[in-house]
Amino acid sequence: MKSILIVGGGSAGWMAAAFLNHALRSPGEEGPLQITVVESDAIGTIGVGEATVPTMRTFLRSIGVPEWQFLTETHATFKHGIAFKGWRAPDAEGTPATYFHPFEVPATLAGHGLGTHWLNLRDRGFKQPPYVEAISVQPELSRRFKSPKPLSALPYESPLSYAYHTDASKFGEMLKKLAISRGVKHVSDKVVSVHHHENGDIAHVRTAEHGDLAADFFIDASGFRALLLGGALKEPFVDWTSHLLCDRAVACQLPHESEVPTLRPFTTSTAQVAGWIWEIDLFSRRGNGYVYSSQHASADEAETTLRAHLGESAKDAPVRHLSMQIGHRPRMWVHNCMALGLAAGFLEPLESTGIYLVEVALSLFIDHVGGGVASPHFAARFNRKMSDIYLEIRDFLQMHYILSDRDDSAFWRDYRNEVSVSDSLREKLALWAFKLPSITDLDGQMTLFGPANYSYILAGMNHLPAGANHLSPYIAQSSSIKALTLIEQAKAKFVNSLPSHYEFLKKTRSVA
Ligand SMILES: Cc1cc2nc3c(=O)[nH]c(=O)nc-3n(C[C@H](O)[C@H](O)[C@H](O)COP(=O)(O)OP(=O)(O)OC[C@H]3O[C@@H](n4cnc5c(N)ncnc54)[C@H](O)[C@@H]3O)c2cc1C
Repeated sequence: MKSILIVGGGSAGWMAAAFLNHALRSPGEEGPLQITVVESDAIGTIGVGEATVPTMRTFLRSIGVPEWQFLTETHATFKHGIAFKGWRAPDAEGTPATYFHPFEVPATLAGHGLGTHWLNLRDRGFKQPPYVEAISVQPELSRRFKSPKPLSALPYESPLSYAYHTDASKFGEMLKKLAISRGVKHVSDKVVSVHHHENGDIAHVRTAEHGDLAADFFIDASGFRALLLGGALKEPFVDWTSHLLCDRAVACQLPHESEVPTLRPFTTSTAQVAGWIWEIDLFSRRGNGYVYSSQHASADEAETTLRAHLGESAKDAPVRHLSMQIGHRPRMWVHNCMALGLAAGFLEPLESTGIYLVEVALSLFIDHVGGGVASPHFAARFNRKMSDIYLEIRDFLQMHYILSDRDDSAFWRDYRNEVSVSDSLREKLALWAFKLPSITDLDGQMTLFGPANYSYILAGMNHLPAGANHLSPYIAQSSSIKALTLIEQAKAKFVNSLPSHYEFLKKTRSVA
């Protein structure tokens, strides 16, 4: 493989360019491989996708971007996790339910996970804080607008797990600048047709003004259009709207309301009658949007709901309506072409997994281009692994909805009664009616969401095992009290020692 052509210059295209260039070319040397990105300014990028998961830190570190540069150039903020509001029916007083999904993986103390200690004390009749609040420090730190890391922490390091919110367009620009400065070629033009070799491989793409661009390997990062994999190679798209109902979004950006904004170090997801609204604080502005099901709300209704939720400041603010293709192409890599990002598939943004799916596909790709050859055997293995990951994330997202007891709209009733649920998810939910999730319950070998993540959602949705935990009789009450007291002490320590989210970012920017 001597040349790779990437079609598309959204986050997926530039992530691929920066990552592959870093992994397959030595800095400052010509090297055997040339990477080119062709993108069309006239078509533009999707421009949304502002929340990430913690693996983003590994990605940025692996391509050699200093954390301060990423934070500054993309107006990024930190993310401890997601605050879910109104995902269950309100309580008897009408108060909406809220819960937090932190990134923290709970510690094992005295031989048991903190979740098991919490169940032990519950089974012994102790009154204690809700599950997630008791076993994680991150909900409290989020409420207090604390940074997940001290000012003295090394780049990308912290005692606490964290991710980012980032301006998707600025993220793309940063990667583009970086990749071009390291030798990636850039062609600004529209691809008008795709041409094949006799064996079905792609030979070249034809552009409107730059003629034909040939390569040994092609990456389709052309967004929902999927110009190469869907268009030229006709790889079928498997629609998953029978599993995940939300297929539209309306987005709205707003300025901060004060000069020194109270930056929320978490994403807020507020359930609505036909979907949910995201709120994300970036350093320079607020990003918001309503992700909804077109079967249950019209675009006008969704826009009205979003504006009403955001209040006076959003009255005349411009909005963007977006259509989302929910599902994936089970074979992301066919012939000499691999799709990435929206061209490969999309699962709604509830747990911010879009950019993660690009990261994981890129690392798998590098792992499978042995000796610089993109072999069909590797492709089959790659496709199987990526399909498993898409399936796993689909089921994890679906769990958020089908566990809800909301009964106030057709959307929530349809989620409970009409959607297709995989046998694997049904089996797991049946199991977790009796025990907390453990690693052996999960099917995929490459899981983004581990047992802790599943248990946070189960707890938040009031679906922890109701009966006594099978281990409770064997765990001393005193050791569970000690374990959970340690978390309370850690919480107090972090609250006192960590800087505010705003202070951390302000300082980083001033040093930068
Ligand atoms: C509502 C919404 C919210 C989201 N939120 C999140 C989130 O919080 N977290 C997250 O991780 N992900 C999120 N995502 C997903 C995320 O936005 C995408 O996964 C990511 O931006 C990658 O997009 P892309 O590069 O594949 O596509 P795009 O940004 O659409 O880029 C496509 C590129 O292809 C080019 N192109 C297309 N046709 C041609 C042609 N004929 N010739 C030349 N160039 C062409 C375009 O010019 C563009 O450069 C969200 C997505 C949506 C829809």
